[in-house]
Amino acid sequence: MRIGFIGLGNMGLPMATRLREAGHQVVGTDLVAENRSRLEERGGVATTSAADVAANVDVLILMLPSSDVVESVLADEAVAAALRPGCLVVDMSSSEPLRTRALAERLAAERGVDLVDAPVSGGVKGAVAGKLTIMIGGREELVGRLRPVLEAMGTVVHTGPVASGHALKALNNLMSAAHLLVTSEAVLAGREFGLDPAVMLAAVNGSSGRSGSTENKWPNFILPGTYDSGFALQLMLKDMRIATALATQLGVPSRLGERAVELWALAAQELPAGADHTEIARWLGT
Ligand code: NAD
Repeated sequence: MRIGFIGLGNMGLPMATRLREAGHQVVGTDLVAENRSRLEERGGVATTSAADVAANVDVLILMLPSSDVVESVLADEAVAAALRPGCLVVDMSSSEPLRTRALAERLAAERGVDLVDAPVSGGVKGAVAGKLTIMIGGREELVGRLRPVLEAMGTVVHTGPVASGHALKALNNLMSAAHLLVTSEAVLAGREFGLDPAVMLAAVNGSSGRSGSTENKWPNFILPGTYDSGFALQLMLKDMRIATALATQLGVPSRLGERAVELWALAAQELPAGADHTEIARWLGT
């Protein structure tokens, strides 16, 4: 297949690389020249024009920071005009579900183009290994068409109609962020008591307190002191806000979620721009 890829950052580049390795033609763009060069090094075609990426592709994948950016890229008249009917637009970014639903309706009505949401979980490691969990929202027939393409990047879970993937992804990250907060507070308290954090994590991983934070984030990025998961704190905060705003719109209380957002927002203010999300543990401990 001919695949367009917009957004070749921490996640987009390894995902586009997996598509190349699966034998697809990949044409991509990013605002950062170095990211475009990296795609070329991996056998893709890079261009500075999003409209060139959108032209003549079967599938147009977006892996961008937020709904704001996704909407602005697709609102560009040259990009919209380049999309041909039958092309599938796949927003793999972690975007806002209600905006995704509206965008899909607009694209279908104005351009005759289908959009599905297919956000991912698994981090940079999962993207490099092709082991992401891909939460896809859209009509069965569209999911069926995309499945062979997406399977080059991970395991596909059909979550329901369009925007359901984005809803699930944001709610997943709210859980993940709250786990990381409470895990970090507990490990820091345990260390103060004299427990060895590595022993604590090993024990918790066989106990009921375990989570992605005890199994992955603490042992791989926090204990070694590298804080280099490749997922920015600002992006985590964006996802938490999407999830709590959604809950509010639905009339579901998000008491713990709102408190977690406050703490992450404070950390974002105090840490340097671009800090990795695992820095929340260091911030709590200092
Ligand atoms: P990133 O900031 O590393 O990559 C985003 C890329 O988009 C950047 O390279 C940027 O230059 C590019 N970009 C921004 N505006 C653009 C435009 N108008 N045209 C072309 N390129 C543009 O972010 P990331 O970590 O790769 O995350 C991308 C999305 O995936 C986000 O929605 C994030 O929440 C989500 N996500 C990230 C991870 C992770 O572990 N990093 C995991 C799951 C989901």
